[in-house]
Amino acid sequence: MSRMPALFVGHGSPMNALGSNEWTRAWRALGESLPRPRAILSISAHWYIGGTALTAMPRPRTIHDFGGFPKALHEVQYPAPGDPGLAVDVKRLLDPLEVSLDEDSWGLDHGTWSVLVHLYPRADVPVVQLAIDARREPRFHYDLGSRLRELRARGILVLGSGDVVHNLRTYTWGERSTAAYSWATHFEALVRAHLDAGQHDPLIEYSGLGDEARAAVPTPDHYLPLLYVMGASVPGERVSYPVVGFDGGSVSMLAVQFG
Ligand code: ZN
Repeated sequence: MSRMPALFVGHGSPMNALGSNEWTRAWRALGESLPRPRAILSISAHWYIGGTALTAMPRPRTIHDFGGFPKALHEVQYPAPGDPGLAVDVKRLLDPLEVSLDEDSWGLDHGTWSVLVHLYPRADVPVVQLAIDARREPRFHYDLGSRLRELRARGILVLGSGDVVHNLRTYTWGERSTAAYSWATHFEALVRAHLDAGQHDPLIEYSGLGDEARAAVPTPDHYLPLLYVMGASVPGERVSYPVVGFDGGSVSMLAVQFG
């Protein structure tokens, strides 16, 4: 079996789950271009808790972890099956790290399903979510990602879902056409330059990248999924950006694909 790509997606607004725009069309095309995975291991910005955990239920529920959006968004269901066997395999792979198997508290949150409804609209690929331990330093997340690398050779799509630039304080709701802030485009360009050059250390130590990094990554949750995907890459592997653009001026929709 050939190695599955490792993919980071900028998910932007939950509203991207509904309807059609340039990003949802790019996600559809991407889903059609990827080899079909045996399962997906999703690291979502929205499962950001005090520990490392895996969803381990056979039928993960669709979680509507937001408020103030239209009823239609609260009615979206993404009935992909879970994969309890994969959850056990990943837990073993991460041994001796303490990893809890969650059978009833979480499920698939909108970081996962708002993108997967477009990437795999038939919801027929099993999905396991991996929680982000909010107590840990960036290097921990990158190293954990590197331990997921071997899953790619087993047909598992390692998927990170967040946003390289995610500043809701400066975000203009509902305005996809708003010009992006210069600090936002500069930081994204810097991230791409480091990825193109295979320089991961500056991106792991992103707090050293100055004021633009502080504006682009005001909290770690949406950035850290990128570190998992970078960790899961193979040194020297081809990197590409199948989705680009900014939403509301300060949310990057950049997707990063290794392999
Ligand atoms: Zn989000």
